[in-house]
Amino acid sequence: MTEDGILYTGRCLCGGVKMEAVAEPLWVAHCHCPSCRKTTGAAFATYVGFDKNAVRFIGELQLYKSSPGVMRRFCPTCGGTVSFMGEAWPGEVHLHAGFLDQAESLKPESHVFTRTEMPWAHMDDGLERHETFPSDDGH
Ligand SMILES: [Zn+2]
Ligand SMILES: [Zn+2]
Repeated sequence: MTEDGILYTGRCLCGGVKMEAVAEPLWVAHCHCPSCRKTTGAAFATYVGFDKNAVRFIGELQLYKSSPGVMRRFCPTCGGTVSFMGEAWPGEVHLHAGFLDQAESLKPESHVFTRTEMPWAHMDDGLERHETFPSDDGH
């Protein structure tokens, strides 16, 4: 922890967008939904949920509304994925794990949207698995 209470920092590929968080994550989960696959270009996306008031972004972010009530943000220069915010999770910001500088210390708890998981990206890691979302709020 730094003097300012910063526990986590983040940075996109080019460094144009940075982040500081002064709280521990609320949860960490892997999402296997098609939207996350398209936005990252990867088999699935790993998210780190934070209280949005604990997170401060530095730099310019580009917005994309991928579905009603859903806002994805990325770096306009390098295209690196930064965050997800959805009306189903008021008060939270979900950061892409790879955006965090401390990604190796994260402890994922579950897989969501396993019904659209790529068969070649199945991890037998013993974590909780949910067909969609545990709350079934939709995406
Ligand atoms: Zn960037
Ligand atoms: Zn998803």
